[in-house]
Amino acid sequence: MKMLSTESRKIRLAIAAAFCLGMPLLPGAGTAMAAQAAPSQASEVAPPSALSAKIDSKAKEIENKLIAWRRDIHEHPELGNQEKRTAKLVAEHLRSLGMDVKTGVAVTGVVGVLKGGKPGPVVALRADMDALPVKEQVDVPFASKAKGTFLGKPVDVMHACGHDTHTAMLMATAEVLASMKDELPGTVKFIFQPAEETPADFEPDGTNTWGAKQMIAEGVMDNPKVDAVFGLHVSSSYEAGKLYWRTGPAMAAADQFWIDVQGRQTHGARPWQGVDPIVVGSQIVMGLQTIISRQSNIALEPAVITVGTFHAGNRMNIVPDEAAMTGTIRTYDEGMKKDIHERIKNTAESIASSADAKAKVKVVELYNAVVNPPDFTDKMAPTLRRVAGEGNYDLQPKSSASEDFSFYQQKAPGMFFYLGVTPKGEDLSKAAANHSPHFFVDESALITGVRAMSNLAVDFLNMKQS
Ligand SMILES: [Zn+2]
Ligand SMILES: [Zn+2]
Repeated sequence: MKMLSTESRKIRLAIAAAFCLGMPLLPGAGTAMAAQAAPSQASEVAPPSALSAKIDSKAKEIENKLIAWRRDIHEHPELGNQEKRTAKLVAEHLRSLGMDVKTGVAVTGVVGVLKGGKPGPVVALRADMDALPVKEQVDVPFASKAKGTFLGKPVDVMHACGHDTHTAMLMATAEVLASMKDELPGTVKFIFQPAEETPADFEPDGTNTWGAKQMIAEGVMDNPKVDAVFGLHVSSSYEAGKLYWRTGPAMAAADQFWIDVQGRQTHGARPWQGVDPIVVGSQIVMGLQTIISRQSNIALEPAVITVGTFHAGNRMNIVPDEAAMTGTIRTYDEGMKKDIHERIKNTAESIASSADAKAKVKVVELYNAVVNPPDFTDKMAPTLRRVAGEGNYDLQPKSSASEDFSFYQQKAPGMFFYLGVTPKGEDLSKAAANHSPHFFVDESALITGVRAMSNLAVDFLNMKQS
């Protein structure tokens, strides 16, 4: 019975999970995913390293600074590819710690390199710096009043996904690790990237790149070559200070599609004289849903197709010429992803042709699935267990949101995990989700993020020595 209640709680958490490009998971997928990820939830805890006590005390010492950075960044949020003020703050801090710093990577990205006193491998730690076009409605003294421009339109801006905390935590991690530089057996690369939520200055069209992908194109994983990479995300789905992760597919791939239906305009009273793109488009919307419900093997991995916009017509008694829709696709398996893309094209074109209309379909791949490699994740999980402490970590339900951290994972073994930020005692199922104007961060959680990133880096460097 305990199994049952844990399971249903996990499914509820999964439904509540929502970050970045994404929103909730398919209800009911909980059982399969718990079984898949079970091996990493073994109870092995890493023994403390020679530096872990030092990490903890240094992190505690600078906790007030960490929170002050977070509040400053929170009050001054900037949209994707516009993170100029944030990048300047980061770069000045990294320079003050004596690092080699590169700025203007992928527009506003900052990379700092900390060379340890002993030879060894290279570990990268990543934070994203961008905010969202959201009007903050949280009652805190440092609430955002910022404005920005999103795809040419004036918008309110808020750190509604918690990237302010990611940036502040990585700045603090840099300070912690710099304080023990001489004892580090290797190099730590600090990656502060822009535009994780997609850029604010152009729309993805399949030809342009941004954020993590652009950072990689500009060489962030080379010179020195990165041997492992870690990233974290704060989440309202979990209690403040608790850590969650899973092996294998952890977050979905996100792709975008456009479907334009070409009909033939006529009088609304005489539809037989034209071709109605609204009716054809509606059939396509329904047809697309059967790709998931009837044609995809969702016992292998879940998948989602959502039509998010549908525009047509300008008057009640005119059958218009065209209908246009856009939507998102979430998948965890590369083969299923390609298959679904094909089926979307085929479904839209076939339905349109059955009504004498034409459908033009375009699919653009945005982010790959975040996949934590089992061997690497199993090797590093004992560190996270030690950092969190007994009872403060658990299996992360699969998330249907997406993250461009996935691109770093294609270049080096990489692990992505979650840090809970909802105040203890609050009903997690009712906590305002990431991306909500009410998204709230319990700052007492942030020190755990700093300890986690610092310990992962040190343990990885030490592991490579032995
Ligand atoms: Zn987000
Ligand atoms: Zn995010």
